[in-house]
Amino acid sequence: MSTPLPFHPSANIAELRESVTIAVSQKAKALKAAGREVIDLGAGEPDFDTPIPIRDAAKRALDQGATRYTAVEGILPLREAIAAQANARYRGGPSIGAGDVVVSSGSKQSLYNACVVLFGPGDEVLVPTPSWTSYYEMVALARATAVEVPGDPARGFKVDVPLLERFATPRTRGVMLNSPSNPTGSVYSPDELRALLDHCAARGWWVISDEIYVRIAYDAVAPGALDVATRRDNLIVVDGVAKAYAMTGWRIGWTISPTAVAKAMGALQSHTTSNPATVSQHAALAALTLGEPVESAVRRMVAEFKTRRDAALPILRASAQLTVLQPEGAFYFYLKVPGADRLADAGAEFANRLLEEEGVAIVPGSAFRTPGWVRISYAAAQAQVVEACHRVVRLAARMA
Ligand code: PLP
Repeated sequence: MSTPLPFHPSANIAELRESVTIAVSQKAKALKAAGREVIDLGAGEPDFDTPIPIRDAAKRALDQGATRYTAVEGILPLREAIAAQANARYRGGPSIGAGDVVVSSGSKQSLYNACVVLFGPGDEVLVPTPSWTSYYEMVALARATAVEVPGDPARGFKVDVPLLERFATPRTRGVMLNSPSNPTGSVYSPDELRALLDHCAARGWWVISDEIYVRIAYDAVAPGALDVATRRDNLIVVDGVAKAYAMTGWRIGWTISPTAVAKAMGALQSHTTSNPATVSQHAALAALTLGEPVESAVRRMVAEFKTRRDAALPILRASAQLTVLQPEGAFYFYLKVPGADRLADAGAEFANRLLEEEGVAIVPGSAFRTPGWVRISYAAAQAQVVEACHRVVRLAARMA
């Protein structure tokens, strides 16, 4: 028998790291399968089912034959609905047409498409840190360099123009923004966001604004880039149905960008995945267009996240050993754990011990390039979230 061909990863993925958030989730699932009781607060996924009117619309679409390929960039009614909603928020020019929208298999693919068509070797992309784990990897897959811009914890890790400028070089080509933020839950105010957008436009930097959590905000409406921008020639807005409509498994996201960028992303997608699943596109169309029956479900889910946040936050805050950010949106607590100033990766140690000693799965902050911190998702039943937070506090006291 001949020797099997050894696998040497290509240069494309030489630097690629496994997604820590998914790894944690898988470890928790494996422990559960082995009979351990685990409270899994690792996942970035609403624990609700997709609202019934959306599921019904998808079933009807299937019965009516939504089983074939569609246009690569998505069905026209969906792109029109996305463009119409975007235009209703945008006061600058030019107005947004269906040709500026590309629908993809999850906003993850939208972000990836954007990174690949905008950035390449030699380019630097500013990534406010902590940020969602995949930004760093996607920029690297585009063979550009992700430049970490460390936010100030006292400001919920939000960045501002002087801070971006400190990390800018002549090679800077773009900035990743994410508000409400995963992992911090921080929300940029309209003025903060406008200042960043104006500056990036003046500098000729692309802005990729990931707004997947924009509808999940608790204390004030979270502005999206199109609510405050006066121009959009450097702006790619990324959104999708996963989080707000509890549709993670349907895999529908989209970009709103200048037409030339949309064309390039469509071309890229035509050679990778082609159109996102046809039935899922019809489900997303229902989510965006059915109105009150869906909107009331979204309001109920957001209200439930807020109730959980308000129930659990005081428990964490009561611990003298933890520094806990105030989440204003998304569904995560981000906190600094004991030993953060002493250990190389106190967050990983805390998350490992929490899983082993207390049966709670959370994500170490190293996934978001801030070791010493951990992320707790509160997209789970309130009793579980509250119980898990008591266990977090107990472990923090033991580790202090
Ligand atoms: N952007 C952020 C900040 C996220 O947290 C996630 C999912 O966790 C995504 C994008 C990807 O979402 P989708 O399911 O639409 O691919």
